[in-house]
Amino acid sequence: MKETKLLGTTIDDLIVAANILKNGGTVIFPTETVYGLGANAKDDEAVKKIFIAKGRPSDNPLIVHIDDFRKIDNYVEEVTDIAKKLAARCWPGPMTLVLKKKKCISDIVSAGLDTVGIRIPQSTEAREFLRLCDLPVAAPSANISGKPSPTTSKHAIDDMMGRVDAIICGKPCEVGVESTVIDATGDVPIILRPGGITPNMVKAVCGDVIIDKGVDGVEVTDKPKSPGMKYKHYAPSAEVILIDGNTIQEIVEKIEAKIKTSKEKTIILCSEETSDYFKDFDTMCLGSRNKPETFAKNLFYAFRECDIKGYDKIILEGIEKEGIGLAVMNRATRAAHK
Ligand code: AMP
Ligand code: MG
Repeated sequence: MKETKLLGTTIDDLIVAANILKNGGTVIFPTETVYGLGANAKDDEAVKKIFIAKGRPSDNPLIVHIDDFRKIDNYVEEVTDIAKKLAARCWPGPMTLVLKKKKCISDIVSAGLDTVGIRIPQSTEAREFLRLCDLPVAAPSANISGKPSPTTSKHAIDDMMGRVDAIICGKPCEVGVESTVIDATGDVPIILRPGGITPNMVKAVCGDVIIDKGVDGVEVTDKPKSPGMKYKHYAPSAEVILIDGNTIQEIVEKIEAKIKTSKEKTIILCSEETSDYFKDFDTMCLGSRNKPETFAKNLFYAFRECDIKGYDKIILEGIEKEGIGLAVMNRATRAAHK
C-alpha cells in the first residue's frame, strides 16, 4: 500500500502534485471528461506504475496529456492537416488525436504501437497541473480496469486510495464520458472511440469522417484499431440490462416487464420523460432524452452509486445514438455485455 496524499486545486497543491509526478510518482487529476491517473510519459518505470495501479492489460495504450498545442511537435513525428484543423477547433477539449509517435514517448505508453494518442484537456485545473509538470503526462481513466470511470474525486478515492501517490480532488467532471479518440494519421479522420466531440462536429471540421466498426456494439476481435475496444469496460458490479425502443410507450413497457419479473434488488436508470411511470420502484433519473449530454454526465456516476447502494441489477433506459448519445450508448452497451 502506498501513502496517498489528498490535495486540492490551489496553486500550492498543484505544485506539490506536479513535483510528485516529476519525481516519477503517480497523480490523479480532474479533467472535464473523467478523472485521469497520470505519470511521466517519458519514464518507463513511472508509466508501469499506472498499469499496476489500475490492473490494466499492458496491450491497452494510454493517452498522453499536454497543456499547449505548441508542444505537440516534441512528441509526434507529423501533425497532419486534419490534425491541425481538428486541434484548432476542438482543443482544448474532449478529443484525443492518434498520430505517429516520437521515440521520447515510452513504448509502454503506446503498448508497442508506433502511434500515440494526444489530448489537451479543457479543464483549467488540469491544464495548470500539466503546465507545472512541463512533461507529457500519460493518463488513462483513474478506475480499476474494467470498472466505470470516476467522475468525482470521491469515486477516484474509492478505487485508488493506497494505489497512487496523490489525488487532486477537484470538481465533478462536466462531460462525464471519456474523450473521442480519433485516428488522425491519414487524410480522413477515423473515430475509434466516441466521446464528447461528436461525429458531426468532426465532419464539419474535416468535411468527412469514418466511424470505426468497433464503435458500435461490442465486437471483440483480437486486433481492433483501438486496443481498448476489445476489453469489457465501464461495468458496475451490478448486472446491467440495457433497454432500447423507438417510442416512450415501448420503452416503458419493456422496462415494466423486466422490473416486474426481477427477483433481485433492482433499480431503474431512467429519463425525465419516463420517470413518472416508475413511481412504485427504485429509480435514478439520468436526465432528459432530448439532452444526451445530461445522460453522459450522469451515467458513470449513477453506475457507481448503484454499486455503493448494493443493487444487484440495473435496468438502463437507452437513448438515441445521436450526438454524444453515441458515446453514451457505446459505454452502456459495453457495460451490459456479459
Ligand atoms: P483511457 O485512457 O482509459 O481513456 O483509454 C484510452 C483509449 O484510447 C483506449 O481505448 C485505447 O485503446 C485508446 N488509444 C490510446 N492510444 C491509442 C493509439 N495509439 N491507437 C489507438 N487507440 C489508442
Ligand atoms: Mg478507461
